[in-house]
Amino acid sequence: KVVTRFAPSPTGFLHIGGARTALFNWLFARHHGGKMLLRIEDTDRARSTTEAIDAIIDGLSWLGLEGDGEPVYQFSRAARHAEVAHQLLDAGMAYRCYTSAEELQAMREKAAAEGRPPKYDGTWRDRDAADAPPGVDPVIRLKAPLTGETVIPDMVQGEVTFANENLDDLVILRSDGTPTYMLAVVVDDHDMGVTHIIRGDDHLTNAARQALIYKAMGWDVPKMAHIPLIHGPDGAKLSKRHGALGVDAYRSMGYLPEALRNYLVRLGWAHGDQEFFSTKEMIEHFSLEAVGRSPARFDFAKLENTNGHYMRQATPDRILAALDPVIAAQEDASAIEAALDAGARAKLEILIPGLAERAKTLVELLDNARFLWATRPLALDEKAQKLVSGDAAQHLAALHERLSEVDPWIADNLDAEVRRYADEAGVKLGKVAQPLRAALVGSSTSPGIFDVLVALGRAESLGRIKDQAA
Ligand code: GLU
Repeated sequence: KVVTRFAPSPTGFLHIGGARTALFNWLFARHHGGKMLLRIEDTDRARSTTEAIDAIIDGLSWLGLEGDGEPVYQFSRAARHAEVAHQLLDAGMAYRCYTSAEELQAMREKAAAEGRPPKYDGTWRDRDAADAPPGVDPVIRLKAPLTGETVIPDMVQGEVTFANENLDDLVILRSDGTPTYMLAVVVDDHDMGVTHIIRGDDHLTNAARQALIYKAMGWDVPKMAHIPLIHGPDGAKLSKRHGALGVDAYRSMGYLPEALRNYLVRLGWAHGDQEFFSTKEMIEHFSLEAVGRSPARFDFAKLENTNGHYMRQATPDRILAALDPVIAAQEDASAIEAALDAGARAKLEILIPGLAERAKTLVELLDNARFLWATRPLALDEKAQKLVSGDAAQHLAALHERLSEVDPWIADNLDAEVRRYADEAGVKLGKVAQPLRAALVGSSTSPGIFDVLVALGRAESLGRIKDQAA
């Protein structure tokens, strides 16, 4: 039975790379009918915050990637980690090391001077505890093999070989009795029954060290898959400017979670040249073999296109629900909410399909909907201003008169009346419809003009037309 885990450190928000790691773990588990567990790696007490924990859990749930069962908090398992360190000590697989900070520093400097990577020199490996300097609290180090190789058969990277002479005797328990990250991860993955570790390839060298701990305990090493990190469009490490933002920022920027998920799954994984995947299809097709070895590049334009695709497919209810957090993140959130409560919501609902078709993000959609609750006289943008000038103003005056007679105020009737007027005036429909749109919306683009008339209602529509009529 497959068990994966997502193991974020709650020292910051759930960023886009972490979200993709979670997604891959989730998909792999679902594909195999297994479980994905969530482990909060909160052992860095100074930097872990409850806000970050909440943001991670919230971000995962927004993306529909909840872990199975309750999250495991790593810090709460410190006693168990220490227990394992002492088991290794008792078994002769680990030893107490009394080397001081100054001595370690000297080793580092010597290594630097000789142009080799720093390494603990093994002084206390075989030394008698009777030699221990008084008053020094020792750390516990793993007695790592000095020769030979450690091979990680990675499901993405292939076989990765590390020379053991380059892996020093790593500290597993600090002098204050707290476990190191390396020990905690191994003990937790083992105790949680994790069968597959899927994470960023920045953890690849850790994998070798962790494998040594597994072997010393006589535990099976889980299968590993180290996925290439996400880079910016220019190939450099992903920066904030590139999109290395929290998942919550994507929600505020107006992306649908299903779109972000679809975008993320394609960052490093492919199934032929298929671009869009339903959740079911993702689960069905996902495999680690199809994860590439080179870093994926984050591309905002592609994310926008993916989002546009999902917006066009979404039901109006889905869009409306997703709009709430976007509105909440606006500077004028309370004004928008007040307008919606005062009647604009019903108007918005009428126009959602037309608006969703024309926007790539929910923020764009919202901006395109603002005319609905704007107050008269409407401020027209430059293009719209031109569209209502000259002859157009005469047409608007005539239209005002004709449309006043339309009853009931429904799209078909309005459509027929505007066409009849254009016909009679001997002008193309556009000559009338464009000024009409400009007068109603204040800009030159909008959903279908007859839907706009219906959404605004008779009084408001006629008023706006009159404002621009000659
Ligand atoms: N907590 C680590 C991180 O956030 C991940 C550890 C792991 O996946 O093994 O980078």
